[in-house]
Amino acid sequence: MNDCIFCKIINGEVPSYKIYEDDETFAFLNIHPMSKGHVLIVPKNHAEDLAHGSEGDSVAIMKTLHKIAPKVIEALGATGYNLGMNHGKIAGQEVFHTHLHVIPRYEGGARTFDKNEASEQELNDVKKLILEGIK
Ligand code: 5GP
Ligand code: ZN
Repeated sequence: MNDCIFCKIINGEVPSYKIYEDDETFAFLNIHPMSKGHVLIVPKNHAEDLAHGSEGDSVAIMKTLHKIAPKVIEALGATGYNLGMNHGKIAGQEVFHTHLHVIPRYEGGARTFDKNEASEQELNDVKKLILEGIK
């Protein structure tokens, strides 16, 4: 899928703030985070959404969630997170390559689903903290 932005991120054609990768999945920071440390977990195989992908890829996404989510929130001082997945334009899906949103939540912080601007510096700082936690 040449025109898929997430395929391009996975194969390195487009840069990303990568925080995790294994044979089946790839995880990186959302450049318009709904909270600090908003991560997207994607299967490496292209499919427009979960239902169009394989069961194996659905399992792989959840395995990656298990592996990284506790470390992500601990590294950032969050105490919980929202998971999200938009299926179809009507549901707000903008990128048609399956992705699971992991949105950390902080004590006393907002719990909105508004997108925020984040500077390269901020995203790099968050990535560094997460990678130190994932080591
Ligand atoms: P959707 O609305 O499809 O569930 O979410 C797509 C998400 O991908 C949006 O939250 C958007 O900020 C994010 N996104 C879109 N383009 C890029 C990109 O080039 N890099 C990264 N890291 N995230 C992107
Ligand atoms: Zn794709």
